[in-house]
Amino acid sequence: MKKNVRLKVKPSYVKGLKTGFPLITEDAVQNISNVKEEGTIIELFDEKNVFLGKGYYGKQNKGRGWVLTQNSQELIDQEFFEKKIKKAINHRQDLFNNYETTAFRVFNGEGDGIGGLTIDHYNGYYVLTWYSEGIYSFKDEVIASLKELVKVKGIYEKKRFAVKGKYIDDDDFVEGEQAPSPLIVRENGIHFAVYLNDGAMVGVFLDQRDVRKTIRDQYAKGKTVLNTFSYTGAFSVAAALGGALKTTSVDLANRSRSKTQEQFSVNGLDYEDHDIIVEDVFNYFKYAVRKELSFDLVILDPPSFARSKKHTFSAGKDYPDLLAQAIQITERNGVIVASSNCSTFGMKKFKEMIASAFKQTGGTYNILEEFKLPQDFKTHKEFKEGNYLKVVFIEKLS
Ligand code: SAH
Repeated sequence: MKKNVRLKVKPSYVKGLKTGFPLITEDAVQNISNVKEEGTIIELFDEKNVFLGKGYYGKQNKGRGWVLTQNSQELIDQEFFEKKIKKAINHRQDLFNNYETTAFRVFNGEGDGIGGLTIDHYNGYYVLTWYSEGIYSFKDEVIASLKELVKVKGIYEKKRFAVKGKYIDDDDFVEGEQAPSPLIVRENGIHFAVYLNDGAMVGVFLDQRDVRKTIRDQYAKGKTVLNTFSYTGAFSVAAALGGALKTTSVDLANRSRSKTQEQFSVNGLDYEDHDIIVEDVFNYFKYAVRKELSFDLVILDPPSFARSKKHTFSAGKDYPDLLAQAIQITERNGVIVASSNCSTFGMKKFKEMIASAFKQTGGTYNILEEFKLPQDFKTHKEFKEGNYLKVVFIEKLS
């Protein structure tokens, strides 16, 4: 049995919790430092002992746990997990029935009612990501629920509850059948080689599915494409499948070359027809300007924060400068796909950054379309940070 503790919420945080804010922050609760055991059930009350919510204690990068229910009678037991996961699965029925797409998110943390846990599906295999030891203490309930509800070939897990949400490098296999390595999944007919037991990242970011499809179907044909911060080249492959003249992928990490070659190969494309460059994007921009290179389609998908030998990049501060450099090497009437997964700002601020970049270069532009998280990355309306993805297709007019 889990321990239950009753805690008082500080007056200024009561309203937020009442309207459904799901994260339990250190500041919001009195004496939270008295709770020692991860996974402890926390019951929250206001100054007048009115019940506000019930959740678990789990120390994360941000926050000390998550509210799971606002019903004081509801128990946090096997039945609770099964109910939440079942609802999440129902919400993704289209994807479960979609033969062309075998990789998608099944459970998205607080968006599906349990902060600190995500579940991804890759061709019958499931990857559980635990964001605290607290949520990890419910592992048996989560796995039992999942196996009750869907056919599971095998289960893997990512433990991200070391200091600052850093991934714990472990054997990630949990049970069932081992997945082939690589496992080939499909996404709208695009193939991706993924590795379920090879570190924190499996090789493809599932939240960009709609963007990849849009690039392939509407923006790539006959175009020259520059894909910066390209990782395994997923956007390059989508563009190449859409009939791009040539793609150029640029990433600093050595592994990106072989990983990108592999993604081309599993799609029956010859990677020799494309450029894969292992280099700092900021150096590459300088080189491209010097050589007067320009591209019809430029994709910018930097991490929120990155430090290379010469540069520190922080999306919240440096995105306009990055974009200004990209604008310089984009053809007139070309398109820039500007993406950010930084959770500290929203779409409004992102568009202000776009405006400021064009102001810097003295050019004009037109926004063609915008994307946020896809339907399987369900978000919680009171938890804005969870709605982190912003992608804007920008036409450079002059
Ligand atoms: N766009 C990718 C995901 C990007 S992940 C996709 O669609 O899959 C971020 C990538 O940026 C990582 O692969 C990292 O190696 C790379 N990166 C970080 N800083 C960089 C820099 N200064 N120059 C080039 N690549 C960088």
